[in-house]
Amino acid sequence: RTVYVNGEYLPENEAKISIFDRGFLMADGVYEVTSVLEGKLIDFDGHAVRLQRSLDELDMQTPISKEDLLEVHRELVRVNEIDEGMIYLQITRGAPDDRDFVFPDPETTPQTIVLFTQNKPGLANSPTAKTGIKVISIEDERWGRRDIKTVQLLYPSMGKMMAKKAGKDDAWMVEDGFVTEGTSNNAYIVKGNKIITRALSNDILHGITRAAVLRFAREAQMEVEERNFTIDEAKQADEAFITSASTFVMPVVEIDGVSLGDGKVGSVTPRLREIYLEESLKKAI
Ligand code: PLP
Repeated sequence: RTVYVNGEYLPENEAKISIFDRGFLMADGVYEVTSVLEGKLIDFDGHAVRLQRSLDELDMQTPISKEDLLEVHRELVRVNEIDEGMIYLQITRGAPDDRDFVFPDPETTPQTIVLFTQNKPGLANSPTAKTGIKVISIEDERWGRRDIKTVQLLYPSMGKMMAKKAGKDDAWMVEDGFVTEGTSNNAYIVKGNKIITRALSNDILHGITRAAVLRFAREAQMEVEERNFTIDEAKQADEAFITSASTFVMPVVEIDGVSLGDGKVGSVTPRLREIYLEESLKKAI
């Protein structure tokens, strides 16, 4: 596979970054994951806007223009012949001469920028979308700025492992009794025709898929309520689902061992998935 590192396209085994890179030493970096369907980028603009916000919130420079970033995404899709999959992008505060808590001077320490593709044939037609996933609930023990998409993913990764050890697929995190989000996705419940999801704040990542799904739902005259919900309320819901750039809209059929409804995928979630895939493909670039 060809990857992109600091302005160069290289075979993945020739790409190198410094051991002093602050992304490696301090998780001082931000990332984005953009999905590719039919060789086109889904919601590139949304991801570029959020990337800029993450950089701004961390007082990081912008090392590449949006136009150039789009060009790199497209070139990697082209050379790696990606029809369905993802593009991972990471920008770190670079590699100063030594390890230091103080941020390096951006004039002398250029940022590190890395992009690579992940080929996922069948991503849109995932069989899991027909059967749904099972989640457990865990305490949310992440830091307080979850709105910034940093590479600090150890707790979400531990959460995913807790789910796997319990024989389930993923974990929903809970803080002060309310669900925040999934380990790598936003969380929703459905009651009747109403879609309920936590409102945006620093407590959750502002999902690009979330924004699109809520917009499409409203356009389709579905009711959307942005408010907190508990795991107990979720267990009583008719349906539940998650959204992310790599899963789109994915049904949740079980929470902490309790089946939702009849334990099968409902009707609202598949409809939303269909609308999302159809509408976002229309706008894909
Ligand atoms: N919440 C968290 C914690 C995430 O890590 C992600 C995606 O990685 C999401 C939500 C979904 O965001 P998006 O729809 O932009 O992929």
